[in-house]
Amino acid sequence: LNQNLVALPTTIFTLMSELARQHDAINLGQGFPDTEGPQDMVRVAADALLDNRNQYAPLTGLPELRQAVADASLRFQGIEVSPDSEVVITSGATEALAAAFLALIEPGDEIVLMEPLYDTYLPVIRQLGGIPRLVRLEAPDWALPRKALEEAFSARTKAIVLNSPMNPTGKVFNAEELDFIADLVRRYDTYAICDEVYEHLAFGAPHISLMSRADMRGRCLRIGSAGKSFSLTGWKVGYVTAAPELASVVSKAHQNLVFSTAPNLQRAVAFGLNKDSAYFTDLARDMDKKRLILSTGLERAGFRVLPCQGSYFVMADITPFTQGGPQNGMDDVAFSRLLTQQARVTTIPASAFYDPNGQTPPPRNLIRFAFCKREEVLLEAVARIEIWK
Ligand code: PMP
Ligand code: GLN
Repeated sequence: LNQNLVALPTTIFTLMSELARQHDAINLGQGFPDTEGPQDMVRVAADALLDNRNQYAPLTGLPELRQAVADASLRFQGIEVSPDSEVVITSGATEALAAAFLALIEPGDEIVLMEPLYDTYLPVIRQLGGIPRLVRLEAPDWALPRKALEEAFSARTKAIVLNSPMNPTGKVFNAEELDFIADLVRRYDTYAICDEVYEHLAFGAPHISLMSRADMRGRCLRIGSAGKSFSLTGWKVGYVTAAPELASVVSKAHQNLVFSTAPNLQRAVAFGLNKDSAYFTDLARDMDKKRLILSTGLERAGFRVLPCQGSYFVMADITPFTQGGPQNGMDDVAFSRLLTQQARVTTIPASAFYDPNGQTPPPRNLIRFAFCKREEVLLEAVARIEIWK
Protein backbone atom coordinates (compact mmCIF):
# COMPACT_ATOMS: atom_id res chain seq x y z
CA LEU A 1 0.00 0.00 0.00
CA ASN A 2 0.97 3.58 -0.51
CA GLN A 3 2.12 4.49 2.99
CA ASN A 4 1.66 8.22 2.38
CA LEU A 5 -2.03 7.66 1.84
CA VAL A 6 -2.29 5.09 4.63
CA ALA A 7 -0.90 7.76 6.98
CA LEU A 8 -3.07 10.57 5.62
CA PRO A 9 -5.83 11.32 8.13
CA THR A 10 -9.42 11.55 6.93
CA THR A 11 -10.12 15.15 5.99
CA ILE A 12 -11.16 17.43 8.86
CA PHE A 13 -14.32 18.35 6.91
CA THR A 14 -15.59 14.77 7.02
CA LEU A 15 -14.57 14.31 10.66
CA MET A 16 -16.33 17.45 11.85
CA SER A 17 -19.43 16.83 9.73
CA GLU A 18 -19.67 13.35 11.25
CA LEU A 19 -19.34 14.81 14.75
CA ALA A 20 -22.02 17.38 13.89
CA ARG A 21 -24.39 14.57 12.88
CA GLN A 22 -23.68 12.62 16.07
CA HIS A 23 -24.58 15.61 18.23
CA ASP A 24 -27.33 17.01 16.05
CA ALA A 25 -25.30 20.20 15.80
CA ILE A 26 -25.68 23.10 13.38
CA ASN A 27 -22.86 22.46 10.93
CA LEU A 28 -20.90 25.67 10.36
CA GLY A 29 -17.81 23.55 9.70
CA GLN A 30 -17.69 22.06 6.21
CA GLY A 31 -18.42 24.80 3.69
CA PHE A 32 -21.63 24.01 1.86
CA PRO A 33 -24.80 26.10 1.51
CA ASP A 34 -27.98 24.84 3.18
CA THR A 35 -30.16 26.03 0.32
CA GLU A 36 -30.30 24.66 -3.20
CA GLY A 37 -28.69 26.54 -6.08
CA PRO A 38 -30.76 28.29 -8.78
CA GLN A 39 -33.78 26.14 -9.63
CA ASP A 40 -33.61 27.10 -13.30
CA MET A 41 -30.16 25.49 -13.45
CA VAL A 42 -31.46 22.36 -11.73
CA ARG A 43 -34.24 22.25 -14.32
CA VAL A 44 -31.75 22.53 -17.19
CA ALA A 45 -29.74 19.66 -15.67
CA ALA A 46 -32.86 17.51 -15.25
CA ASP A 47 -34.08 18.25 -18.78
CA ALA A 48 -30.65 17.38 -20.16
CA LEU A 49 -30.85 13.94 -18.51
CA LEU A 50 -34.22 13.31 -20.13
CA ASP A 51 -32.85 14.69 -23.38
CA ASN A 52 -30.45 11.71 -23.43
CA ARG A 53 -27.34 13.66 -22.50
CA ASN A 54 -26.02 10.59 -20.71
CA GLN A 55 -22.91 9.45 -22.56
CA TYR A 56 -19.33 10.66 -22.20
CA ALA A 57 -18.85 14.36 -22.75
CA PRO A 58 -15.84 15.47 -24.82
CA LEU A 59 -12.52 15.23 -22.95
CA THR A 60 -12.06 18.97 -22.36
CA GLY A 61 -15.76 19.65 -21.80
CA LEU A 62 -18.94 20.49 -23.70
CA PRO A 63 -18.30 23.25 -26.25
CA GLU A 64 -21.19 25.27 -24.81
CA LEU A 65 -19.65 25.22 -21.32
CA ARG A 66 -16.15 26.03 -22.57
CA GLN A 67 -17.68 28.98 -24.44
CA ALA A 68 -19.52 30.11 -21.30
CA VAL A 69 -16.33 29.89 -19.21
CA ALA A 70 -14.49 31.96 -21.82
CA ASP A 71 -17.32 34.53 -21.93
CA ALA A 72 -17.34 34.80 -18.13
CA SER A 73 -13.56 35.18 -18.08
CA LEU A 74 -13.87 38.19 -20.39
CA ARG A 75 -16.94 39.64 -18.67
CA PHE A 76 -15.67 39.44 -15.07
CA GLN A 77 -11.88 39.66 -15.42
CA GLY A 78 -11.28 41.17 -18.85
CA ILE A 79 -9.26 38.07 -19.77
CA GLU A 80 -9.83 36.80 -23.28
CA VAL A 81 -9.39 33.04 -23.62
CA SER A 82 -10.05 30.65 -26.47
CA PRO A 83 -12.87 28.24 -25.60
CA ASP A 84 -11.26 25.64 -27.87
CA SER A 85 -7.67 25.61 -26.65
CA GLU A 86 -7.60 27.36 -23.28
CA VAL A 87 -10.45 25.89 -21.20
CA VAL A 88 -10.66 22.45 -19.57
CA ILE A 89 -13.79 21.37 -17.68
CA THR A 90 -13.07 19.21 -14.64
CA SER A 91 -14.97 17.30 -11.96
CA GLY A 92 -14.81 20.10 -9.43
CA ALA A 93 -11.98 22.41 -8.49
CA THR A 94 -10.54 19.53 -6.47
CA GLU A 95 -9.84 17.64 -9.68
CA ALA A 96 -8.72 20.84 -11.39
CA LEU A 97 -6.12 21.36 -8.67
CA ALA A 98 -4.90 17.77 -8.89
CA ALA A 99 -4.71 18.03 -12.69
CA ALA A 100 -2.81 21.33 -12.46
CA PHE A 101 -0.31 19.83 -10.02
CA LEU A 102 0.07 16.75 -12.24
CA ALA A 103 0.59 19.02 -15.24
CA LEU A 104 3.42 20.98 -13.63
CA ILE A 105 5.24 19.00 -10.98
CA GLU A 106 8.24 16.79 -11.53
CA PRO A 107 10.06 15.26 -8.54
CA GLY A 108 12.18 17.87 -6.77
CA ASP A 109 10.22 20.87 -8.03
CA GLU A 110 9.48 23.44 -5.36
CA ILE A 111 6.00 24.88 -4.95
CA VAL A 112 5.45 28.08 -2.97
CA LEU A 113 2.26 28.19 -0.90
CA MET A 114 0.77 30.44 1.73
CA GLU A 115 -0.44 29.13 5.09
CA PRO A 116 -3.12 28.74 6.28
CA LEU A 117 -4.17 26.71 3.26
CA TYR A 118 -6.83 24.44 1.84
CA ASP A 119 -6.23 20.84 2.84
CA THR A 120 -5.84 19.09 -0.52
CA TYR A 121 -2.84 21.06 -1.78
CA LEU A 122 0.00 19.59 0.27
CA PRO A 123 -0.76 15.85 0.09
CA VAL A 124 -1.05 15.95 -3.71
CA ILE A 125 2.08 18.05 -4.17
CA ARG A 126 4.07 15.72 -1.91
CA GLN A 127 2.68 12.61 -3.59
CA LEU A 128 4.06 13.89 -6.89
CA GLY A 129 7.50 14.45 -5.39
CA GLY A 130 7.08 18.21 -5.19
CA ILE A 131 8.61 20.12 -2.30
CA PRO A 132 6.30 22.66 -0.64
CA ARG A 133 7.86 25.98 0.41
CA LEU A 134 5.42 27.44 2.90
CA VAL A 135 5.09 31.09 3.76
CA ARG A 136 2.89 31.93 6.70
CA LEU A 137 0.34 34.73 6.80
CA GLU A 138 -0.36 36.04 10.29
CA ALA A 139 -3.68 36.84 11.92
CA PRO A 140 -5.54 39.08 12.23
CA ASP A 141 -4.74 40.94 8.98
CA TRP A 142 -3.13 38.15 6.96
CA ALA A 143 -0.82 40.75 5.39
CA LEU A 144 1.40 39.52 2.56
CA PRO A 145 4.82 38.70 4.10
CA ARG A 146 6.74 40.14 1.16
CA LYS A 147 10.25 39.36 2.35
CA ALA A 148 9.47 35.77 3.32
CA LEU A 149 7.63 35.25 0.05
CA GLU A 150 10.58 36.50 -1.97
CA GLU A 151 12.93 34.27 0.04
CA ALA A 152 10.77 31.24 -0.74
CA PHE A 153 11.38 31.65 -4.48
CA SER A 154 14.50 30.22 -6.09
CA ALA A 155 15.71 28.66 -9.32
CA ARG A 156 14.02 25.43 -8.13
CA THR A 157 10.56 27.03 -7.91
CA LYS A 158 8.10 25.59 -10.39
CA ALA A 159 4.96 27.41 -9.26
CA ILE A 160 3.15 29.36 -6.59
CA VAL A 161 -0.35 28.46 -5.42
CA LEU A 162 -2.48 31.54 -4.87
CA ASN A 163 -5.94 31.15 -3.34
CA SER A 164 -7.92 34.39 -3.51
CA PRO A 165 -10.51 34.94 -2.09
CA MET A 166 -8.73 32.77 0.43
CA ASN A 167 -10.04 29.84 2.44
CA PRO A 168 -9.94 29.89 5.49
CA THR A 169 -8.81 33.49 6.11
CA GLY A 170 -11.37 35.37 4.00
CA LYS A 171 -8.51 37.47 2.60
CA VAL A 172 -8.90 38.96 -0.89
CA PHE A 173 -5.54 39.90 -2.39
CA ASN A 174 -5.45 43.49 -3.67
CA ALA A 175 -3.89 44.76 -6.90
CA GLU A 176 -0.67 45.81 -5.23
CA GLU A 177 -0.18 42.41 -3.58
CA LEU A 178 -0.98 40.67 -6.86
CA ASP A 179 1.58 42.78 -8.68
CA PHE A 180 4.21 41.89 -6.09
CA ILE A 181 3.44 38.19 -6.63
CA ALA A 182 3.35 38.64 -10.42
CA ASP A 183 6.79 40.22 -10.30
CA LEU A 184 8.20 37.16 -8.46
CA VAL A 185 6.48 34.76 -10.87
CA ARG A 186 7.99 36.64 -13.81
CA ARG A 187 11.47 37.08 -12.32
CA TYR A 188 11.80 33.43 -11.32
CA ASP A 189 10.20 32.23 -14.55
CA THR A 190 7.53 30.16 -12.79
CA TYR A 191 3.82 29.38 -13.04
CA ALA A 192 0.92 30.28 -10.77
CA ILE A 193 -1.93 27.95 -9.87
CA CYS A 194 -4.73 30.35 -9.05
CA ASP A 195 -7.46 28.80 -6.92
CA GLU A 196 -10.28 31.28 -7.49
CA VAL A 197 -13.25 29.13 -6.49
CA TYR A 198 -14.65 32.04 -4.44
CA GLU A 199 -14.20 34.53 -7.32
CA HIS A 200 -17.82 35.70 -7.05
CA LEU A 201 -17.75 35.95 -3.27
CA ALA A 202 -15.79 39.15 -2.59
CA PHE A 203 -17.54 41.66 -0.37
CA GLY A 204 -15.55 44.88 -0.49
CA ALA A 205 -13.26 45.47 -3.41
CA PRO A 206 -13.97 43.10 -6.30
CA HIS A 207 -11.85 40.01 -6.77
CA ILE A 208 -8.99 40.47 -9.23
CA SER A 209 -7.39 37.48 -10.92
CA LEU A 210 -3.61 37.24 -10.96
CA MET A 211 -4.04 36.18 -14.58
CA SER A 212 -5.21 39.69 -15.45
CA ARG A 213 -1.94 41.31 -14.30
CA ALA A 214 0.90 42.20 -16.65
CA ASP A 215 2.71 39.23 -18.22
CA MET A 216 0.63 36.70 -16.27
CA ARG A 217 -1.57 35.51 -19.12
CA GLY A 218 0.77 32.68 -20.14
CA ARG A 219 1.85 31.68 -16.63
CA CYS A 220 -1.42 31.22 -14.74
CA LEU A 221 -3.71 28.23 -14.45
CA ARG A 222 -6.92 29.82 -13.22
CA ILE A 223 -9.36 27.50 -11.45
CA GLY A 224 -13.07 28.09 -10.84
CA SER A 225 -15.90 26.02 -9.33
CA ALA A 226 -19.58 25.93 -10.22
CA GLY A 227 -20.12 24.46 -6.76
CA LYS A 228 -19.19 27.77 -5.17
CA SER A 229 -20.50 30.19 -7.80
CA PHE A 230 -23.94 28.56 -7.90
CA SER A 231 -24.26 26.99 -4.44
CA LEU A 232 -24.29 23.53 -6.02
CA THR A 233 -21.34 21.94 -4.23
CA GLY A 234 -22.52 18.38 -4.89
CA TRP A 235 -22.30 18.84 -8.65
CA LYS A 236 -18.50 18.94 -8.71
CA VAL A 237 -18.06 20.91 -11.91
CA GLY A 238 -14.87 22.98 -12.15
CA TYR A 239 -12.91 24.69 -14.87
CA VAL A 240 -9.30 25.56 -15.64
CA THR A 241 -8.30 28.36 -17.97
CA ALA A 242 -4.70 28.54 -19.12
CA ALA A 243 -2.58 29.19 -22.20
CA PRO A 244 -2.91 26.43 -24.85
CA GLU A 245 0.29 24.55 -23.99
CA LEU A 246 -0.66 24.49 -20.29
CA ALA A 247 -4.32 23.65 -20.89
CA SER A 248 -3.23 20.81 -23.14
CA VAL A 249 -1.15 19.20 -20.39
CA VAL A 250 -3.97 19.73 -17.87
CA SER A 251 -6.29 17.88 -20.26
CA LYS A 252 -3.80 14.96 -20.35
CA ALA A 253 -3.98 14.77 -16.56
CA HIS A 254 -7.78 15.05 -16.68
CA GLN A 255 -7.90 12.24 -19.27
CA ASN A 256 -6.31 9.85 -16.76
CA LEU A 257 -8.12 11.07 -13.66
CA VAL A 258 -11.76 11.05 -14.80
CA PHE A 259 -11.71 11.62 -18.57
CA SER A 260 -14.98 13.56 -18.60
CA THR A 261 -17.49 15.30 -16.38
CA ALA A 262 -21.29 14.71 -16.27
CA PRO A 263 -22.71 16.27 -19.46
CA ASN A 264 -26.09 17.32 -18.06
CA LEU A 265 -24.38 19.22 -15.25
CA GLN A 266 -22.04 20.85 -17.76
CA ARG A 267 -24.99 22.05 -19.80
CA ALA A 268 -26.65 23.51 -16.70
CA VAL A 269 -23.45 25.24 -15.57
CA ALA A 270 -23.13 26.82 -19.02
CA PHE A 271 -26.65 28.15 -18.54
CA GLY A 272 -25.67 29.45 -15.09
CA LEU A 273 -22.49 31.19 -16.23
CA ASN A 274 -24.52 33.00 -18.89
CA LYS A 275 -26.83 34.52 -16.27
CA ASP A 276 -26.83 38.29 -16.19
CA SER A 277 -24.49 40.07 -13.81
CA ALA A 278 -27.26 40.70 -11.26
CA TYR A 279 -27.17 37.01 -10.29
CA PHE A 280 -23.50 37.28 -9.33
CA THR A 281 -23.80 40.60 -7.49
CA ASP A 282 -26.84 39.28 -5.59
CA LEU A 283 -24.91 36.15 -4.61
CA ALA A 284 -22.13 38.27 -3.06
CA ARG A 285 -24.57 40.70 -1.47
CA ASP A 286 -26.62 37.94 0.15
CA MET A 287 -23.51 36.17 1.39
CA ASP A 288 -22.13 39.41 2.82
CA LYS A 289 -25.35 39.87 4.75
CA LYS A 290 -24.94 36.38 6.23
CA ARG A 291 -21.32 37.20 7.10
CA LEU A 292 -22.46 40.27 8.99
CA ILE A 293 -25.19 38.39 10.88
CA LEU A 294 -22.80 35.66 12.01
CA SER A 295 -19.86 37.96 12.76
CA THR A 296 -21.99 40.34 14.83
CA GLY A 297 -23.54 37.45 16.75
CA LEU A 298 -20.17 35.82 17.43
CA GLU A 299 -18.70 39.12 18.65
CA ARG A 300 -21.64 39.53 20.98
CA ALA A 301 -21.15 35.98 22.24
CA GLY A 302 -17.57 36.84 23.19
CA PHE A 303 -15.40 35.78 20.23
CA ARG A 304 -12.89 38.09 18.63
CA VAL A 305 -13.97 37.90 14.99
CA LEU A 306 -11.32 38.48 12.33
CA PRO A 307 -11.96 40.64 9.27
CA CYS A 308 -13.28 38.81 6.20
CA GLN A 309 -13.33 40.26 2.66
CA GLY A 310 -14.42 37.21 0.72
CA SER A 311 -15.15 33.43 0.56
CA TYR A 312 -17.85 32.05 2.83
CA PHE A 313 -15.72 31.61 5.89
CA VAL A 314 -14.88 33.78 8.84
CA MET A 315 -12.21 33.10 11.46
CA ALA A 316 -12.76 33.71 15.16
CA ASP A 317 -10.23 33.96 17.98
CA ILE A 318 -11.22 31.77 20.94
CA THR A 319 -8.76 33.38 23.38
CA PRO A 320 -11.52 35.21 25.33
CA PHE A 321 -12.91 31.75 26.22
CA THR A 322 -9.65 29.91 26.85
CA GLN A 323 -7.94 32.25 29.29
CA GLY A 324 -9.56 31.26 32.57
CA GLY A 325 -12.97 29.71 33.10
CA PRO A 326 -14.09 26.18 32.17
CA GLN A 327 -12.29 26.22 28.78
CA ASN A 328 -9.01 27.43 30.28
CA GLY A 329 -6.01 26.40 28.18
CA MET A 330 -8.04 24.63 25.50
CA ASP A 331 -6.66 24.50 21.97
CA ASP A 332 -8.71 24.97 18.80
CA VAL A 333 -9.33 21.23 18.33
CA ALA A 334 -10.58 20.66 21.88
CA PHE A 335 -12.64 23.84 21.74
CA SER A 336 -14.26 22.88 18.41
CA ARG A 337 -15.18 19.45 19.77
CA LEU A 338 -16.61 20.96 22.92
CA LEU A 339 -18.62 23.51 20.95
CA THR A 340 -20.14 20.68 18.89
CA GLN A 341 -20.85 18.49 21.91
CA GLN A 342 -22.16 21.14 24.30
CA ALA A 343 -23.37 24.14 22.27
CA ARG A 344 -24.28 21.94 19.28
CA VAL A 345 -22.56 24.25 16.79
CA THR A 346 -19.81 22.80 14.61
CA THR A 347 -16.74 24.68 13.35
CA ILE A 348 -13.36 23.75 11.91
CA PRO A 349 -10.24 24.13 14.09
CA ALA A 350 -7.93 26.35 12.02
CA SER A 351 -4.81 24.32 12.83
CA ALA A 352 -6.15 21.86 10.21
CA PHE A 353 -5.18 24.45 7.58
CA TYR A 354 -1.47 24.25 8.41
CA ASP A 355 1.20 21.78 7.32
CA PRO A 356 1.04 18.84 9.75
CA ASN A 357 4.78 18.26 9.16
CA GLY A 358 5.72 21.93 9.58
CA GLN A 359 8.63 23.22 11.66
CA THR A 360 6.65 25.99 13.34
CA PRO A 361 3.55 24.90 15.22
CA PRO A 362 0.27 26.36 13.95
CA PRO A 363 -1.72 28.89 15.95
CA ARG A 364 -4.11 27.08 18.30
CA ASN A 365 -6.49 29.95 19.03
CA LEU A 366 -8.50 30.18 15.81
CA ILE A 367 -11.60 28.39 14.55
CA ARG A 368 -13.33 28.78 11.19
CA PHE A 369 -17.07 29.30 10.77
CA ALA A 370 -18.92 28.85 7.45
CA PHE A 371 -21.69 31.42 7.00
CA CYS A 372 -23.22 30.05 3.77
CA LYS A 373 -26.36 29.13 5.71
CA ARG A 374 -29.90 30.51 6.04
CA GLU A 375 -30.14 33.55 8.28
CA GLU A 376 -32.36 31.80 10.82
CA VAL A 377 -29.79 29.00 11.07
CA LEU A 378 -26.99 31.49 11.73
CA LEU A 379 -29.11 33.23 14.38
CA GLU A 380 -29.96 29.90 16.00
CA ALA A 381 -26.25 28.96 16.06
CA VAL A 382 -25.37 32.20 17.79
CA ALA A 383 -28.26 31.78 20.24
CA ARG A 384 -27.01 28.27 21.12
CA ILE A 385 -23.53 29.63 21.82
CA GLU A 386 -24.99 32.44 23.96
CA ILE A 387 -26.88 29.91 26.09
CA TRP A 388 -23.86 27.62 26.37
CA LYS A 389 -21.13 30.09 27.24
N1 PMP B 1 -10.30 25.18 -3.30
C1 PMP B 1 -10.79 25.76 -2.20
C2 PMP B 1 -10.05 26.89 -1.59
C3 PMP B 1 -12.00 25.33 -1.66
O1 PMP B 1 -12.46 25.89 -0.54
C4 PMP B 1 -12.68 24.27 -2.29
C5 PMP B 1 -14.01 23.79 -1.76
N2 PMP B 1 -14.00 23.37 -0.48
C6 PMP B 1 -12.12 23.67 -3.41
C7 PMP B 1 -10.94 24.16 -3.90
C8 PMP B 1 -12.77 22.51 -4.09
O2 PMP B 1 -13.84 22.87 -4.88
P1 PMP B 1 -14.82 21.80 -5.56
O3 PMP B 1 -15.89 21.51 -4.56
O4 PMP B 1 -15.31 22.46 -6.80
O5 PMP B 1 -14.00 20.58 -5.85
N1 GLN C 1 -14.16 23.48 0.61
C1 GLN C 1 -14.98 23.11 1.73
C2 GLN C 1 -14.47 23.79 2.98
O1 GLN C 1 -13.41 24.36 3.00
C3 GLN C 1 -15.00 21.63 2.01
C4 GLN C 1 -14.81 20.73 0.89
C5 GLN C 1 -14.68 19.31 1.38
O2 GLN C 1 -15.38 18.89 2.26
N2 GLN C 1 -13.77 18.62 0.80
O3 GLN C 1 -15.15 23.69 3.96
